Amino acid sequence: MTPSEPVHTPITSLRAKKRPAVRYAILVLALFCSLLAAAQAWSAWSARQSRLAETTAATSNMARALAAQAESAVRIVDTVLSSVAEHVEHNGLSAASTERLRSHMRDMVASTKELHGLFVYGPDGSWLVTSLDQPIARNNADREYFQYHQKNKDRGLHIGTPIRSRSSGQWILPISRRLDKPDGSFAGVALGTIQINYFADLYDSFDVGKEGVILLAHDNGVVIYRRPFLEKLIGQNVASGPIFQTYRAQGPAGTAMLRSKIDGVVRLYSYRHLGSLPLLVATAQAKDEILAEWQQSTLLMAGGTTLIVVLLIGVGARLVRQIIIRDQLEDELVIAKEDLQERNQELTVLATNDGLTGIANRRHFEDVFRVELKRAARTGAPLSLVLVDIDFFKKYNDRYGHVAGDACLRQVAATLRDGLARPTDLAARYGGEEFAILLPGTGAVGARYVAERLRLAIFELGIEHADNPAGTATISAGAATFHASPGETGDRIAFITRADVLLYRAKDTGRNRVCSDLDNAESADAPSFCI
Ligand code: GH3
Ligand code: MG
Ligand code: MG
Repeated sequence: MTPSEPVHTPITSLRAKKRPAVRYAILVLALFCSLLAAAQAWSAWSARQSRLAETTAATSNMARALAAQAESAVRIVDTVLSSVAEHVEHNGLSAASTERLRSHMRDMVASTKELHGLFVYGPDGSWLVTSLDQPIARNNADREYFQYHQKNKDRGLHIGTPIRSRSSGQWILPISRRLDKPDGSFAGVALGTIQINYFADLYDSFDVGKEGVILLAHDNGVVIYRRPFLEKLIGQNVASGPIFQTYRAQGPAGTAMLRSKIDGVVRLYSYRHLGSLPLLVATAQAKDEILAEWQQSTLLMAGGTTLIVVLLIGVGARLVRQIIIRDQLEDELVIAKEDLQERNQELTVLATNDGLTGIANRRHFEDVFRVELKRAARTGAPLSLVLVDIDFFKKYNDRYGHVAGDACLRQVAATLRDGLARPTDLAARYGGEEFAILLPGTGAVGARYVAERLRLAIFELGIEHADNPAGTATISAGAATFHASPGETGDRIAFITRADVLLYRAKDTGRNRVCSDLDNAESADAPSFCI
């Protein structure tokens, strides 16, 4: 590599070294954001699960409490019915006994809030005894419960389907027992009724939300009461609905998320069968209501997380941009530094080299000459100086023109430079068509030898010069040598003058020749002899 070639560090390799920092920053940011989002999602999911679990426990407890309550209400009515049936079957219905029974029935209805009315019907369905103040002459042979007991000898409790009371016009739940004559034949029916409003009042006191549902039904699917109240549903069969499907599939108690066939709302249902009675209670809360609070807080948290992620991405993007800008600045700095080094090298070359010939210029020659002369004085080593001048160069310019003259100068300069063997030797352009050659460590013999070799080399270039008697471009040279005696410091001007004198002697004695100090020594008195 020549000194003028700039030393470049490839920019691409610099960038390649820095890119991992950007990639690492992006990776860490992406990982952090993903972890944050995943943690939020997990926390939201577990909050949702625990909210559903809490509601499952709450609705299931409510179903258990309502089932116990419905069972106790029916059992109370049944106990009263049993006492009425026993009275009729054992005491008969004489006028006195009927009056006693009526009074007993009134007392019972008055003291039992679950009980709406008590009735005793004869085998033909006629009203025999009632708890009503003013008995009405009616016949209930058409009622479902009456026909059931008429047909079935079973003396157990019968819970009928809800009906409108003939005495009050209100919705009631009939609970009845068969009455037998001593011979076991059908003697009529003892009936106790529970007002459906009794369930309505009770169920309305529970908080199941706006869309919540409480259902009391026969286990065959007939609706006894439903909150919210829908009159058309009372007495309807919902056995094909999702609650009863789940009941049939899962058994006496269970919980399920179901879509209602009635209003299409998705609810979390808990149901419970009453055990010894053919009744089923279900409570439900709408999924949307259960999760409303959770949804709100999740939305809030998601918003917060999104904000944090956006902020992080913003900060990260800024960081990455700064890293990239820093990389670019560093790259530009490296380029600028290289550029500066290149310019400095160029400046150094410009400062020390001659613009036309490319060899050392006069200033550089003077610097080196000063240093070498001091060194020679200090060490006692010889230092030779050869001054060279092209012969008849004015005429060359005149005949061939200045452009050719410049080319000739370049050729001569290059030949002089290339003709030097040692690295410490220096060829410089001294002025117009004059050159100076410094030969450190070279004595007079060596200097004359080098100068003669250079003269011959120029001659052998064969540059046509019609106005030179040699027919070709030639040089004349004066070679002087400084060899310091002890204590001698060396006089630069005197040294150059000596070489200049020898050069002019070479000119005067015919040109195309070398005159040296040796010529003076060899013929000190005689006219100088040059080769
Ligand atoms: P001699 O040395 O043999 O006595 O004759 P000369 O004609 O060479 O003598 P002189 O020193 O008078 O002429 C030097 C000429 O060199 C003058 C000028 O035309 C020419 N010269 C000096 N510098 C340059 C240069 O840079 N380019 C060209 N083309 N010519 C130059
Ligand atoms: Mg000259
Ligand atoms: Mg000349």
